[in-house]
Amino acid sequence: MHRAIKNIFTAARQQEGAGFWVNRPFPTANLDMLDPFLLLDEMGPETFAAGEAKGAPDHPHRGFETVTYILEGEFEHKDSTGGHGVITAGDVQWMTAGDGVVHSEMPSDAMQQKGGKLHGFQLWVNLPQAKKRVPPRYQPLDQKNIALIERDGWQVRLLAGSLLGVDGPAATHTSIIYAHVTVQPGAIASFEAPATYNCGLYVFAGSANVGESNALLEKQQFVSYERAAGAIEIEAKSDEPFEALFMGGEPLNEPVARYGPFVMNTRAELQEAVEDFNAGRMGKIAPEGL
Ligand code: MN
Repeated sequence: MHRAIKNIFTAARQQEGAGFWVNRPFPTANLDMLDPFLLLDEMGPETFAAGEAKGAPDHPHRGFETVTYILEGEFEHKDSTGGHGVITAGDVQWMTAGDGVVHSEMPSDAMQQKGGKLHGFQLWVNLPQAKKRVPPRYQPLDQKNIALIERDGWQVRLLAGSLLGVDGPAATHTSIIYAHVTVQPGAIASFEAPATYNCGLYVFAGSANVGESNALLEKQQFVSYERAAGAIEIEAKSDEPFEALFMGGEPLNEPVARYGPFVMNTRAELQEAVEDFNAGRMGKIAPEGL
């Protein structure tokens, strides 16, 4: 039995940070959020000339987690808790903003100087009310630690949660699954997530048939599924491998108040976040050499 499909739509394309292009399936007019997931951005793929690569300089976050997964190129993250790391192709950085951080997300110095191709993703995972102000946490997940599940003609890189009897490496505050699924032409992938989870699939290469009606799913499209039992089945149709991010999570079902980089439960908490940031209570990034 197939898990029923709720909706299929194409991601919006817009500029973020200092002016880099992203494909954004949500939040958009098509989908406000996929509770507990607040935002998904595909960065690139884009090839930058020397001196042209752009990122997101110092900015704050409070109340959720940002998960950065890089497929091509190099990003360097620094934050006000002293967290620092270069994320290279295949690596993940799982940052719990919690109570509040100021961070910068920039192409590495080498990429800024020489240019090159960047391709990656950022997923925002909401924190439940009781955990919105937990201390910030920084988890670098090296590609060697990402669980690789291999099947005949398809594979899953499992970043977080349980899928196909395997556990992913990320420590999470919420019940979620986050995975990179690759299906070779002509092969069929099939897996299940808990029926109570909200689930979605974002395609970034190839095309496939999905669901009972064999709906065609193409690059830059997102499919959201009903909260119901059933297999998520993907039959790759294109000449190139089909690649997608799968996310599933138990909905928090709590009020969501958003203002830019802050996601809380009430407007008063947003106001407090803005005041705390303006007063410097989310810290600042230490200058080089100090
Ligand atoms: Mn950020």
